[in-house]
Amino acid sequence: MAGKLLSIGECMVELMQAEGDLLRKGYAGDTFNTAYYARTFLPADWSVDYLTAVGTDTVSGEMLAFIEKTGVGTTQIRRVEGRSPGLYMIHLKEGERSFSYWRSVSAAKTLADDADHLRAAIEGSDIIVFSGITLAILAPSAAETLLSELRRAKAAGKSVVFDPNIRPRLWDDKQYMLDTISAGARSASLVMPSFDDEAAHFGDADVAATIARYRGLGVYNIVVKDGPKGVTLSFGDAPLQFVPSANVDKIVDTTSAGDSFNGAFLARYAVDGDPVKAAGFAASAAATVIQHHGALVSRDKLPSA
Ligand code: ADP
Repeated sequence: MAGKLLSIGECMVELMQAEGDLLRKGYAGDTFNTAYYARTFLPADWSVDYLTAVGTDTVSGEMLAFIEKTGVGTTQIRRVEGRSPGLYMIHLKEGERSFSYWRSVSAAKTLADDADHLRAAIEGSDIIVFSGITLAILAPSAAETLLSELRRAKAAGKSVVFDPNIRPRLWDDKQYMLDTISAGARSASLVMPSFDDEAAHFGDADVAATIARYRGLGVYNIVVKDGPKGVTLSFGDAPLQFVPSANVDKIVDTTSAGDSFNGAFLARYAVDGDPVKAAGFAASAAATVIQHHGALVSRDKLPSA
């Protein structure tokens, strides 16, 4: 059955240390990474589009060309005069990564400013993906515009998928962060949190507590990711199910583990509707991703869909 997936958020320019003082340029962001993996694993009769805002400058044009080359659609990406994409730099020191960000005036902050465009894009989609990072970069009124469209989509029976991806440095105020993440979950039909983040910021004692909290917010489908251990699924009235992670002997780079898991899970779940099988497939995809460098691992290295 054909369908349309829309992912909403911020894709940034990534600068990574190369030889000497040289930098290598790439493009990444949690919701874009998820779109990339969904595109990789969905059949050709599904479309995958990214919704964000970029500038009219050269680097914005290059980013659009890059996104298109991956097969992710760019027709929902608005171009805003006088803005540029956010940028981050990865520093490598003795194998440890650290990051610097320039994103305070990024074009993506305006992604919800055209409410009619947002509504039309969401109405035209079957699966809509967003994250806590999507909400963190928006002004409170823009976040509310997005959330009210997502609540409408959920009420209309669409699949609205939320990864809380809690990043405290993106939020000025802890209580606002927790309230907005909870509002994001309420707008979603499927929530895919990482247990470490939830324990650190919501104080959940265990995975069952994370599930109970999101169920209490009216979320009926939940996938809690717990790194090397595995994932716990709570779907509708079915009993909780645990799906272990794949064994990985040598981790190369954990960037995008959660995003690739999400993209692979959504692709498989959209096609056959079995969350346990989808989680098993996503675990093998994420295990492959962490054995390679970078957020976006090329198709030929990934398990076949
Ligand atoms: P995030 O990257 O969002 O913090 P997790 O660390 O929970 O998310 O990882 C997401 C998924 O990646 C896990 O559910 C698992 O499938 C896979 N994964 C992460 N770390 C490992 C690991 N050390 N070994 C095997 N799989 C892993």
